[in-house]
Amino acid sequence: MPSNFFGGFKVSFKQIFEPRVTTSYPNQKRPKAPRLHGRHVLNRYEDGMEKCIGCELCAGVCPADCIYVRGLDNPPDHPVSPGERYGYIYEINYLRCIHCDMCVEACPTEAITESKLFEFSFTSRADAIYTKEELVVDDEGRPKHQPWEDWREGEDLHTSGWMRATAPGGASEYEGVISWSGELGYGKRAPEAGQSDNRDDEATGNFLLKDISADHIPVEFGGSVR
Ligand code: SF4
Ligand code: SF4
Repeated sequence: MPSNFFGGFKVSFKQIFEPRVTTSYPNQKRPKAPRLHGRHVLNRYEDGMEKCIGCELCAGVCPADCIYVRGLDNPPDHPVSPGERYGYIYEINYLRCIHCDMCVEACPTEAITESKLFEFSFTSRADAIYTKEELVVDDEGRPKHQPWEDWREGEDLHTSGWMRATAPGGASEYEGVISWSGELGYGKRAPEAGQSDNRDDEATGNFLLKDISADHIPVEFGGSVR
């Protein structure tokens, strides 16, 4: 009986000497997965024009019915987007959004993409419904930070292209091929990392999962768990 009793502590005692895998969240954040789907942004071209053309495809495809778009003809003297129309009203209801990224897939102009920010909470329905003013990137191409969002330094750097669920960069025939149009604040983005060794993680903001989660992955698969 005593040996069973003390034997029960063996596992706990052994863990004292193992490397710590806990992080003091939210004081300290771990790097996020490259394809994490966070809160959306509406992107702009390098010349500042909005990419959204008000086509409503994103609203049509959304399974949670949480996007509301209204398009309007571009004023000939002051066009907002390069298309015939632009997104006059654009709203996303985050009380409904399931971050599936179907809207990102459907968008023909790469106007809507997702950042990696999931640390946002609100205390009113009005705050939960993001307006176009809140979603459109700022004059440097970065997401506008809302008071209820927890952005840390550098978190908004790689904020658009890579949040697609099935980017062509994931298919071997597109490896190394630039697929993104020029973007305010970022210019032409480097191709997304593919499956082979031919990758430039520094340029794309990607990283191998084993490099950030080594403590959770067995040694035989490149991690540090024995
Ligand atoms: S991520 Fe999915 S649920 Fe959220 S707005 Fe886009 S399509 Fe709708
Ligand atoms: S975000 Fe894209 S899919 Fe949605 S209305 Fe604008 S252009 Fe169309």
